[in-house]
Amino acid sequence: MSIKLVFLGTGSGKPMPRRNVSSMALFREGELFLFDCGEATQIQLTRSQLRPGALEAIFLTHFHGDHVNGLPGLIGSLTLNQRTRPLDIIGPRGLKKWFRCLHDLHILRPGFPVRIREVQESGQVYEGENFRFHTGPLQHRIATWGYALEEEERPGRFDVERAKELAIPPGPLFGRLQSGQAVQLEDGRTIEPEDVLGPARPGLKIAYVTDTIPCESAVELARDADVLIHEATYPAGEEKLARQRGHSTAADAARCAKKAKARRLIMTHISQKYLHLDEFVGGARQIFANTEAARDFSTFEIKRRDR
Ligand SMILES: [Zn+2]
Ligand SMILES: [Zn+2]
Repeated sequence: MSIKLVFLGTGSGKPMPRRNVSSMALFREGELFLFDCGEATQIQLTRSQLRPGALEAIFLTHFHGDHVNGLPGLIGSLTLNQRTRPLDIIGPRGLKKWFRCLHDLHILRPGFPVRIREVQESGQVYEGENFRFHTGPLQHRIATWGYALEEEERPGRFDVERAKELAIPPGPLFGRLQSGQAVQLEDGRTIEPEDVLGPARPGLKIAYVTDTIPCESAVELARDADVLIHEATYPAGEEKLARQRGHSTAADAARCAKKAKARRLIMTHISQKYLHLDEFVGGARQIFANTEAARDFSTFEIKRRDR
């Protein structure tokens, strides 16, 4: 069991054949979540192994075109695909107005309920079974929100040897103990889950931080994350240019990962001016070693760890 991250677009500004604009898919236990939905995200989705029908929710960071222009098209195609299940869309204030305009102009008539949630403040914005997404403000040229997925702790590993020593018959009782319930054996003994389970195991935390200049709120979102996905529009050394445009460099992304004590950094939102990523990765690794730069269709399998 793991979480799969698939980068559908890793460029900033405008779509290019080698690098589409922002979108990242997160696939978890049969459910698909999208962060941002730049132009042609639906094409990228069909080129990936992901099934758009599995989409549960879309999280939009801000209303710059390179993060949202693909949304009406994607929703239109889901309608053509006969979707009937609701879809949650979470994004900045103005999202409802945008949908109303698309509806009134007959551009978009979704054949399924679209549940819109406008983010007004930091906090939880989506809840699933054993996990939740929360949001926090970033600092960019317009209102922008970063997001983080956090899973709940999972029960510890089942110790089969210990269960044998306690003469617990294999079968359904194992499952009940694993799910945290005490069981009674035929000989009258009661077995508590902690008798056969190891220590609880932490869930995963994945943070998505784009677009932003370095800020405390980004560090908070990324705090102790297993994976931090952070924008790096420019390579290290271009901080002045980055600040003028409300962005971060690869070194800024690395500093955020380091401050937040994240375990791994994946950079995205690379300026289309730069063909090669070596400069980005090299500059960031001097500050935070466990760094990679995503390309379109880069896929990362994020495994849960023991304590
Ligand atoms: Zn952008
Ligand atoms: Zn932007």
